Amino acid sequence: MAKWVYSFEEGNADMRNLLGGKGANLAEMTNLGLPIPQGFTVTTEACTDYYAKGKQISEEIKEQIFTALSQLEEKQGKKFGDTESPLLVSVRSGARASMPGMMDTILNLGLNDVAVEGFAAKTGNPRFAYDSYRRFIQMFSDVVMEIPKSFFERILDEIKEGKGVKFDTELTADDLKEVIVRFKAVYKDKMGVDFPQDPKEQLMEAVKAVFRSWDNERAIVYRRMNDIPGDWGTAVNVQAMVFGNMGNTSGTGVAFTRNPSTGAKGIYGEYLINAQGEDVVAGIRTPQPITRLEEDLPECYKQFINIAGKLEDHYRDMQDMEFTIEDGKLFFLQTRNGKRTAQAALQIACDLVDEGMITPQEAVLRIEAKSLDQLLHPTFDPEALKSGLVIGQALPASPGAAAGKVYFTSQEAKTAHEKGERVVLVRLETSPEDIEGMHAAEGILTVRGGMTSHAAVVARGMGTCCVSGCGDISINEEEKVFELGGHVYHEGDYISLDGSTGKIYDGDIKTQEASISGNFGRIMGWADSFRKLKVRTNADTPEDAANAVKYGAEGIGLCRTEHMFFNPDRIPKIRQMILSRTVQEREKALNELIPYQKGDFKALYEVMEGRPVTIRFLDPPLHEFVPTEKDDIDDLAVKMMMTAEEVQEVCDSLHEFNPMMGHRGCRLAVTYPEIARMQTRAVMEAAIEVKQEKGFDIVPEIMIPLVGEKKELKYVKEVVVETAEKVKQEMNSDIIYHIGTMIEIPRAALLADEIAEEAEFFSFGTNDLTQMTFGFSRDDAGKFLNEYYKKKIYESDPFARLDQSGVGQLVQMAAEKGRKTRPDIKLGICGEHGGDPSSVEFCHKVGLTYVSCSPFRVPIARLAAAQAAISN
Ligand code: PEP
Ligand code: MG
Repeated sequence: MAKWVYSFEEGNADMRNLLGGKGANLAEMTNLGLPIPQGFTVTTEACTDYYAKGKQISEEIKEQIFTALSQLEEKQGKKFGDTESPLLVSVRSGARASMPGMMDTILNLGLNDVAVEGFAAKTGNPRFAYDSYRRFIQMFSDVVMEIPKSFFERILDEIKEGKGVKFDTELTADDLKEVIVRFKAVYKDKMGVDFPQDPKEQLMEAVKAVFRSWDNERAIVYRRMNDIPGDWGTAVNVQAMVFGNMGNTSGTGVAFTRNPSTGAKGIYGEYLINAQGEDVVAGIRTPQPITRLEEDLPECYKQFINIAGKLEDHYRDMQDMEFTIEDGKLFFLQTRNGKRTAQAALQIACDLVDEGMITPQEAVLRIEAKSLDQLLHPTFDPEALKSGLVIGQALPASPGAAAGKVYFTSQEAKTAHEKGERVVLVRLETSPEDIEGMHAAEGILTVRGGMTSHAAVVARGMGTCCVSGCGDISINEEEKVFELGGHVYHEGDYISLDGSTGKIYDGDIKTQEASISGNFGRIMGWADSFRKLKVRTNADTPEDAANAVKYGAEGIGLCRTEHMFFNPDRIPKIRQMILSRTVQEREKALNELIPYQKGDFKALYEVMEGRPVTIRFLDPPLHEFVPTEKDDIDDLAVKMMMTAEEVQEVCDSLHEFNPMMGHRGCRLAVTYPEIARMQTRAVMEAAIEVKQEKGFDIVPEIMIPLVGEKKELKYVKEVVVETAEKVKQEMNSDIIYHIGTMIEIPRAALLADEIAEEAEFFSFGTNDLTQMTFGFSRDDAGKFLNEYYKKKIYESDPFARLDQSGVGQLVQMAAEKGRKTRPDIKLGICGEHGGDPSSVEFCHKVGLTYVSCSPFRVPIARLAAAQAAISN
C-alpha cells in the first residue's frame, strides 16, 4: 500500500518533493524539537492521484487521512467535534516551490454547532468561540464552496449597522450567534444543503479545495512566470490550531531573520498582541515591530530570537517565519527560505559567504537569475504600487516599470518626450518605423504580437519596459483612444506598465531607478569563474553593444542588419533597390548603401574592441520596407521615374499570404545576390579598416539566415567568398573570416550534418525554429496560447522558454550532427531563449559554445550559465 500521509514526526527537510516546502519544514522543525503545533501532511503524490482519478480522492488516501487524524487527536488530547475539548485544525497548501498567496488556506476547521459550545467553555471566552465559528463558515464557504465573500460581508455590515457599531470587535457573543444563523442560511440558500456539521466531511472538502486550488488561474499564471511544472501538485498540511487571540498574553506575527528588501542582518518583522493571523493581513489593526515583543512578553521574545537564530543556522539561509503565542506559549507555524528582492538576495548571499555559512558556488545558486532584471531596470515604488489599480494583463515582453502619458504614434511620442514628458507608446503593433517613438518612450504597450514580436525584441534590446499582445484592448489609433478593463484612455492620460509581470495599471505610479551595488560585481565574478558557456549579445547599434559589454557580453552573437536600414536617410535607397527593374539599377541603389552599412559595422567593431561579432545578412520579407504613406510613395515615384500607381502596384505585388514563410532570409540572396555582395563588401571593408586604424584583430563572422538546404547555403556562400576575396585583394589584406548559418528551419536541423560541410558555425534561431516546429506564428500565437495554458495543454510560452522536448530535440540533434561533420564547429543560440535561465541550462547541457541575448539579459545569462555548470 502506498503511503499518502505523513505525520510531522515522519518527514524531514529532504522530502520537499513529496511533502511540499511547508510540510518538509514543519517535519524538520518537529525533528529539531522546536515548538510546533502537531499535524500531518497529505503528499503531493496524493494531489497528482486526485487529478489522475478525475478529481477524486481515493478510499485509500481517505483512510490514511482519518488514521492520521485519530493519531493527532490522541497527541493533542482533543477530539474532532467534541463538546468539551474540540480539536480545531488549519488546512493549508504547500507546494515544492513556495507560491505565496496563490493557493488556499482554511482555518478553524472542526467547528460546528456543538463544538463551538465546547470551545466556548474550554476557552472561557464565548465571544471568541462564536467569532471563530463565523470566520470558519465564511472561509469554508468562500474557499471551499466558492460562495462569494460579499454575501457574508453584507450580513456583517447589516448587523453592525443594526447594533449601531463600527467594528467587528464591538459585536457581542450574542450578536455573533445571530451572524452565524444568518451565515448558515446563506450557505443553505446557495448550496441547497445545510452547512456541514461533520468535521470529517469538512476536512475532506477542504483537502479537495486545496488540491483544486493548485489549478486556479492565479496559480497557473504564477507557475508560468516562475517555471514551476504543472504536474508537481501541492501537498496539504493539516495542523492543530493555536490561538493568538486569547488575551494579552497571546499574539501572532511574521518575521524574517534578515531584512527581505535590503538584506541587512537582524530580525525584521511585525506582530500583534491578542490577534489571529488574518488580523495582521487584513490591516484592521496596525502591527507592532517585532522588537516590541521584548517589552510585552520578554520570555517569549528571548525564546523566539533563539529559535530564529537556530533556524537560520540550520537552513543556512534567511528565514521567513510565522509564529503564534497562545497564552504565553510560543509556537512556530512555519519557516521557509524567505522571498527577497534581488538587492537583498545579493547582500544576503555575499554576507553568508563572509560569515562562512555558504560557499561562493552556493551563493551563485542562491540568486534567482531572472530577478537580476530588478537591478537593471526601474521598478515601481512598493508603497505607491499598493494602491495601483490593475486594468489588464498581457505578455511581460520586456522588464521594468514605466509610467507616463499615453501617445498613439511614434512621432507624437517623440515630440512629447522632447518637451520633457514621460511617455507610454500605445500601438496596435510596432514596426521598424516606430523606432524613434520607442526610444522616446518609458514604456510600450501593444495590442498584438508575442514574445518575439518586433516590439518585444526591440524593447528588450533597448532595455525599455514593454507589455505586448494585450488583445483585451480595443483601440482606435485615428481617434487616439483605447479602452481596457472598463476604462477609457485618451492621448495624454496616464497609465503605468510592469514589463516584468505584464500588468497594466491605471494612472501614474511612482517608479524608482535601478541601482547596482558592489555585491552584483562580486556574485557575477564568481559566476564567471564557474560557467562553461560563453555569453554574447544580440545588438544592432553601437549603443546597445556598449551597454552589453558593460554588462559582460563577450561578443555579438546576432547583429540584425535590417534594423540599420530604417533610418530616414537610408530607407529611400532600400526602397529604390526593391523597385529596381534591372540588376544594374539594383546594384546602383545598393552601392549607395555601402557607406552607411560599412559605417555601422565599423562603429560596432570599434565598440566591441576585437571581440567576436556575428553579422547576419538581410532577413525580413522585402514588403516590410516598402512605403505605405502617400508622400513616401510619391517621393519614390519621382526618384524611380514611375507613376505613383506603378509604385503602388509593385508594392502590392510584394504582398505575401505567409510572409514569415515567404521571400525572406537567404532566399533574398538567392534571388538578388547583389544584396549579399553589398553586405559582404561592407563587412569586409569595415573589418579591415578598423584593424588598420585601431589595431583590433577582427575576424568577421558572416551569418546566412533561414537556410534549409546545403546547396542553398553553398550558393550564397560562393557569392560571399567571391566578394570577400576581392575586397581582401583590393585592400591588400589577409584577414580571416568565417561563414556560418542560422539553424532556424526544421529541415536545417534534420540535415545539419550536410549543412555543416558548408557552415563554419551554427547559431540556433530558436524564434523561427519554434515558430516552424509548432507551426504557429510568432506574432499571432499570443491570441490563443492563453487558452492552451488554462486548459493545461501547454504550460509556458514556447517563444519565451525553449520547448526542450520538441524544439530542443532538434537543437540537440543538429548540434550532434554538426559536430560529427565538423568537430570544432562553433555552436550558439541567438533566439530570445538565449536570455531565459531554463533555456540557458538546456544550452549548457547540449554543449553549445555560447548563448546570445539582448544586452540587459546578459547578466541573467551569465548567472544562469554558472548555475547550470554548478548543478550539472
Ligand atoms: C530567430 O529566428 O531565432 C532569430 C534570432 O532571428 P529573428 O528573430 O530575427 O528571426
Ligand atoms: Mg529568424
